This record gives sequence, structure tokens and C-alpha cells, in this order.
Amino acid sequence: MARAYNFSPGPAMLPEPVLRQAQAELLEYRDAGASIVELSHRGPEFLEVAQRTEADLRRLLAIPDDYAVLFTAGGATTVQALLPLNFAAPGQAADYVLTGHWGKTAYLQAQPACAARIAASSEADGFTRLPPRAEWALAADAAYVHITANETIHGVEFPEVPEVGTVPLVADFSSSIASAPLDVRRFGLIYAGAQKNLGPVGIAVVIVRRDLLERAGQPRAPILDYRVQLAAESMLNTPPSWNWYMLGLTVRWMLDEGGVEAFAARNARKAARLYAAIDGSGGFYRNPVAPEARSRMNVPFFLHDPRLDAPFLEGARAAGLIGLKGHRVLGGMRASIYNAMPEAGVEALVDYLQEFQRRHG
Ligand SMILES: *Cc1c(COP(=O)(O)O)cnc(C)c1O
Repeated sequence: MARAYNFSPGPAMLPEPVLRQAQAELLEYRDAGASIVELSHRGPEFLEVAQRTEADLRRLLAIPDDYAVLFTAGGATTVQALLPLNFAAPGQAADYVLTGHWGKTAYLQAQPACAARIAASSEADGFTRLPPRAEWALAADAAYVHITANETIHGVEFPEVPEVGTVPLVADFSSSIASAPLDVRRFGLIYAGAQKNLGPVGIAVVIVRRDLLERAGQPRAPILDYRVQLAAESMLNTPPSWNWYMLGLTVRWMLDEGGVEAFAARNARKAARLYAAIDGSGGFYRNPVAPEARSRMNVPFFLHDPRLDAPFLEGARAAGLIGLKGHRVLGGMRASIYNAMPEAGVEALVDYLQEFQRRHG
């Protein structure tokens, strides 16, 4: 079977040039006599990979110098657990805005280590909209305000960065980082697991304003301490070197393709095409999210009759379209259309949606 268009939410499709380069360098990295994954992380080859990756990521996302960049293991969920330990004093409040599954996860991960508060939530509406900013109950003495920039499961995205005053804004960008230009200065901290839009699973990126690292936080082991991690250049222990290398290739590919501006334009076209097909199906397909809050990255949709789900997925697979089954908490379908998904993939999906409807409508 040829490579399919993979709409999987994460681990997700990677750019083919990235996979080809990794394949070409797998047995021997440059003239090192071994694969990059077999070399010491303290050796010159890997240190060059690490430094180049950070420099490229800084260029891609226009990260200012007063922000540190950390590369961490344990995924986005571990970052969620470490946020209060590093940035909230014992018993200090931290405000969480819940717009879907991952905001709720962040809140639950923080609860044992701070006075996590739900400042706003759209759960009563099934996470199909954003809670209006005027209704957020923010505490002036909170350690930070946490939002999920893009909710990967519910398909809800902030169209712009909300204003939260002087309390640092912390944002989970796992599924939308590098999908469009971003003003890093609006945030105290940005984090992202790599496996949606930045590379393979096994590594996460934390971009943090350096002054926040001066906060005492709470008693924690050195390995859980972002100050210690930064001093050790994210190598206090053996880092996930293969994942870091793959992330580096992916970031380089994004720069070669024209950077975040180019992807923003492509992603807007892809999302518009797919939502138009769903909305134009006369109810055969349905996306429940309020139009102004719809994600450009993850498009959940439902067939009008769930008995059609199995034949829909079977036919999709036969048409070379995989990874469309929805998350178990929602059911239905979901098409994840990250940077690595070409416009031709979305065209193929739209063609399939229309063909399936003709046969079953
Ligand atoms: C996937 C995802 C997570 C969880 O990431 P892990 O790396 O599995 O811990 C958290 N937040 C968002 C927005 C995600 O998409």
C-alpha cells in the first residue's frame, strides 16, 4: 500500500521529506560511524543537533531572547503537572479556563499541587463554544491563567489571544503550535507535545519567560525543576535524542516551506474547504462547534446516522484516507489537518465525503 493521507490526531502524519531524511541517516549519521540515536548526547554530533534545533525553533516562532526554550520528556501531560510545582507558591490559586478535554486534564494534573480554580468553562455546552471573556472569573493573585489554545478532541480553538491583564498567561499549544504566526510576548509560558504539529511523540517544548523561572514554586526534585533543566540545557538526564533530532528535521522543513506565514495561509484554506463541505452536506455530516470557535487543526464531524460510521471508515481506508475515527469520548469522526497534511489530502477527503454521501444519502 502507498502512503495514505493520515488524519490521525497524534501521533500524526509527518512530512515525507523528514521521514526520508531520517531514513537516509538512520544507519550512519553524517560520517559519525553510527546512527544519531546510538551516539552520546554529550558528543559533538548531538550537541550540534540540539543547538540547531533550538535556533531553528526560535526563528520559526520568533521567540524573543528573554524567553527560554526547554525540550522535555513526558509529553504535554507532564508539563501540566509541573506547572504548579514550578510557578505557584504552596496554596496559591491558579486559574484554568476549560474549553475541552485537555483544559480539564491540565486542571486535574495541577490540582494536587495548587489551589486550581475553574475560572470559566464551556463544559455545560459540551465544549462547543468558548466561554465569553466577560464571564471569566479571574483572581488577581493567581499564579497564572491557563488556556488550551486548540482543543484537539473537541475541535475548539481560540481565534485570538485573550487579554488577561498582568497575571501570566500559560497556554497549551500542543495541537496548534507553528500553524500560524504567534506573538510569544503575550504569554508567560507556551508548551506543546511534539506529536501533533512538531514531530514525533516523546518530546515536548516549553517556552517560558525567563523571569518566571525566578519563582520559588514548591519543593520538587531537581529533575522536575525547570531552572535546573535550563541550566543543564535540557540534558540533566539522557534526553530523548531521537525525538529531538526528528523534531529538528520537522522544524527545518517548516522553515524551508516558508515558515508559519505560509502554513497559516495553507491551513486556512484547508479548514475552510473541509468545513464548507461538512456544512454544505445538508445535514448528512455535522460539526457542532460554534463557527467563531472552530479549530483549523482538528475537525470533528458526525454522520447523520451512526450506523454509517463503520462503512464510512472502511471506505475511507480503501480510498487511502486513514486516522479518521473520532476520539472515544465524542465518537463520530475527526480529521486532523496539521501542517504536514497537504492541501491535496483535504481535497481527497472532501471528494470522499461527497462520494460517500451520494452512495448513502
Ligand atoms: C495530545 C495533547 C495533550 C497530551 O499530550 P501527551 O503528550 O500525550 O501528554 C495535551 N494537550 C493537548 C492540547 C493535546 O493535543
